[in-house]
Amino acid sequence: MERLTNFIAGEHRPPESGQWLDVVEPATGAVYAQAPDSDASDVERAVSAAAAAFPAWSAVPAPERSRVLFRLADLLESNAERLARAESVDTGKPIALARRVDVPRSIANLRFFAGAVLHAAGEMFETDTPAAGGAERALNYTLRRPRGVAGLITPWNLPLYLLTWKIAPALATGNTVVAKPSEVTPMTAHLLTGLAREAGLPPGVLNVVHGRGDQPGAALVAHPDVPTLSFTGSTRVGRWIARTAGDLLKRVSLELGGKNPFVVFDDADLDDAARTAARAAFTNQGQVCLCGSRLIVHRAVADRVVDALAAWCAQVRIGDPLDDATDFGALTSDDHLHKVAGMVEEARRLGGRVVCGGARVPPARLPARCGGGAFYLPTVVTGLDPACRVEQEEIFGPVVTVQTFDTEDQAIALANATPYGLAATLFTRDVSRAHRAAAALDAGVVWVNCWMLRDLRTPFGGTKQSGVGREGGAEALRFFTEPRNVCLRL
Ligand code: NAD
Repeated sequence: MERLTNFIAGEHRPPESGQWLDVVEPATGAVYAQAPDSDASDVERAVSAAAAAFPAWSAVPAPERSRVLFRLADLLESNAERLARAESVDTGKPIALARRVDVPRSIANLRFFAGAVLHAAGEMFETDTPAAGGAERALNYTLRRPRGVAGLITPWNLPLYLLTWKIAPALATGNTVVAKPSEVTPMTAHLLTGLAREAGLPPGVLNVVHGRGDQPGAALVAHPDVPTLSFTGSTRVGRWIARTAGDLLKRVSLELGGKNPFVVFDDADLDDAARTAARAAFTNQGQVCLCGSRLIVHRAVADRVVDALAAWCAQVRIGDPLDDATDFGALTSDDHLHKVAGMVEEARRLGGRVVCGGARVPPARLPARCGGGAFYLPTVVTGLDPACRVEQEEIFGPVVTVQTFDTEDQAIALANATPYGLAATLFTRDVSRAHRAAAALDAGVVWVNCWMLRDLRTPFGGTKQSGVGREGGAEALRFFTEPRNVCLRL
């Protein structure tokens, strides 16, 4: 059985503890690899390596850092099929999705930030202040310097995609990195380290420590030599990180959970809205933080949209994630499936109507290899009180609830009535309404007549309990650098 390793100071090493965690293929339930069960001592080594590499890496001219990241992107591209397969086995996502989204987006993340540092513009102010006998003149300009060792912690739903989304801007701006990928899905981070070495990333610039959140994860958060932390994961853990990092006065970016509304007005292109709502609800088995998990639809068109959604669920190709034809694979673990199933049970108990799904996929519908896998049917639930737990808490699985409204104000009120504020989608043909509603929705990202159409230059992140700070474009370059004002008297 394959044993993954940590990557510290340019070397692949076993964990100091000699302990290992099983890595499960969720589509079969079988253990197929082992990953380091690291602890604080591995983090200590990794942070020392990153700190030692920082002076030289931060002094490398930006075009050379950029070249290394472009080379890494090229290596990801030439290994695309291997990475897509690894991501599919590790997470349960359809290989077609990994080929179409996870791997291309990981490559794009690297290329985007490798290019962005070459084009980043500075800030300059001509100062002209009245003074005795005339004026005092100066030039004020801002230098942006890398901050040191960045601790990057990522979840299991988009492992390589979210890891590269953080690594690329951190390294491009001259920081060194200690990354802690999810212990549930460590494989592509491990493969990335081999490619990083091949790309010529100097030892210590990128370090990866595998293991549990409360072990190397917590040690990284609390480490005094890691001034910058970028975390994507649950709101519960994000809150703990904010508290711990706050005490240490670290700079923190938190990308957390969501309960995203998907609003369909009665003037929308309903076929497009229903198709997109299905994609928004069930892509990656509903395990994308941006998933539209609350469908909020005008009463006059609700039946039509819900019927179309149920029809989509009836025809979607559920199966072995490694089958090219599969559209809908396994949840990421059996534990997670039980949480999702528990929320659907709660919905039933609260009087919700399960329009479709609401159960594990019958083994007879799956190939024999997948009999022990974590497969749950795409599920649509109507008739719940918008204030109930199922409507308020993130499920992070293939479950969409439906609410109806009569007026635009009601739609906005329903959309905003959760503690989260990550993404919102609205479908309408009325341009004025689109602008009005987009401005009124509590969300870091609003999509109008589309979903998950991403431009890497835009600010990305959530409000309320969905996070603190923004990633993407100039926001990420600012996050990973320290501004220094220089005032030069003329
Ligand atoms: P999680 O919070 O359980 O774990 C995320 C990462 O944090 C893992 O690597 C984990 O090992 C680590 N971790 C756990 N406890 C820690 C601790 N005490 N200190 C340091 N690290 C710790 O989340 P998950 O279950 O892996 O991922 C699902 C969650 O991620 C969902 O809530 C989803 O909405 C969220 N998510 C958000 C975004 C976004 O951009 N806003 C994107 C993807 C996923």
